[in-house]
Amino acid sequence: MSTAVAATLVDDIYAEPAVAGAFLPPILDALSGLFHCICPCGCGAYRALPIYTGKKPSYVSWSWNGNVEKPTLSPSIRDVSGCKYHGHLTDGVWTFCADSGR
Ligand SMILES: [Zn+2]
Repeated sequence: MSTAVAATLVDDIYAEPAVAGAFLPPILDALSGLFHCICPCGCGAYRALPIYTGKKPSYVSWSWNGNVEKPTLSPSIRDVSGCKYHGHLTDGVWTFCADSGR
């Protein structure tokens, strides 16, 4: 099991080598937006997670606390097809659940 990884605010999500846990400034319109990030596990996978503030949309999405520097997403983030990362992003820190990677 990995230890916590700081979420790093970047302006180029495609920079090489990929920075584990990097994310772009979240952009949210009145209803929804996307949280672009690199998996914190070190696998280098890029993800775009639908986010919202306020009322939850009907589709799979994560609430965002609105903090660009220290984002919190809820609920947990789980990769079901690739590296099997499972964990939380809380106050700008990625953590790993006990079942992450399995
Ligand atoms: Zn990963």
